[in-house]
Amino acid sequence: MRRMNISIDDISPHSLSGVGVLDRCFEILAVHPDVKFTLFVPTAYWRTVYIPGRVDTRTDAPLYIYEHPAFCDVLQQLPKANFEVGFHGRYHGIPGYSNNDEMRYMLLQDTTATMELVNNEFVVIYDGNISPKIEDTNTTNILNMCKRVEIFSKFVLNMRNDVEKANLTHVFKNILRPPAMYMNSEVVPAAANEFSCLALSPRRLHTSGYGDISYLKNIVYANVWIPDDDLSVATGDIELLYHACEWDGGYLNEKRTQELMTFLDTHQGELEYSFMEEMI
Ligand SMILES: [Zn+2]
Repeated sequence: MRRMNISIDDISPHSLSGVGVLDRCFEILAVHPDVKFTLFVPTAYWRTVYIPGRVDTRTDAPLYIYEHPAFCDVLQQLPKANFEVGFHGRYHGIPGYSNNDEMRYMLLQDTTATMELVNNEFVVIYDGNISPKIEDTNTTNILNMCKRVEIFSKFVLNMRNDVEKANLTHVFKNILRPPAMYMNSEVVPAAANEFSCLALSPRRLHTSGYGDISYLKNIVYANVWIPDDDLSVATGDIELLYHACEWDGGYLNEKRTQELMTFLDTHQGELEYSFMEEMI
């Protein structure tokens, strides 16, 4: 049997990235009642950057889940046989700097970050060490970002507090998918220790930041990533990734739902529907 999990990222109180996508899940469950979905929820989704020519997805303030009781009720009432909920960052981005890579530059310890000129190049120095983590070449961006870099333990505590304030501690499983899959090599081992399972990306773009984590055993990689990967040609176990955001190319819309149901029909009896930790 091939194991299969369907994950959906960015389920939140955002008007364009909300629980509407769950209607598609229930359409699937009406035909395939054993399918298992993993919903990844940012606890205070906050998009702060406008990209010209794209949909404006910014909100004035973070969307703390505990300030949206109707959203929390929906999560609370999901059938546990078919849905699990995991952590997907807090703001999801770095406020004022990016929408998507909250954990990319995260640090393990509080430290002082400064910019210095070394060999005629500006580099970021953390506690006297040149950082290998910053790829951005725009000095202003880097300086602004340094002021906003988060400490991992504080970030985890804030996420867990948001969930507790929402009375959802029993609903969230201790699994994490980092926002937009970005995490640096300092934080991945700490996160693998803090969470029972990490849902990561197998793409070079992301794995180059993770470093060598082949020794970590609680990792699941999203190997079929809609719309870039073709579900119909997937082989072996399937960790399928969709998005709840309507602006994203991987949004689980009606058309994609039909494609997915055709795949499930075709492979009926071959698939063992699994939650994230069962994919390890
Ligand atoms: Zn996301």
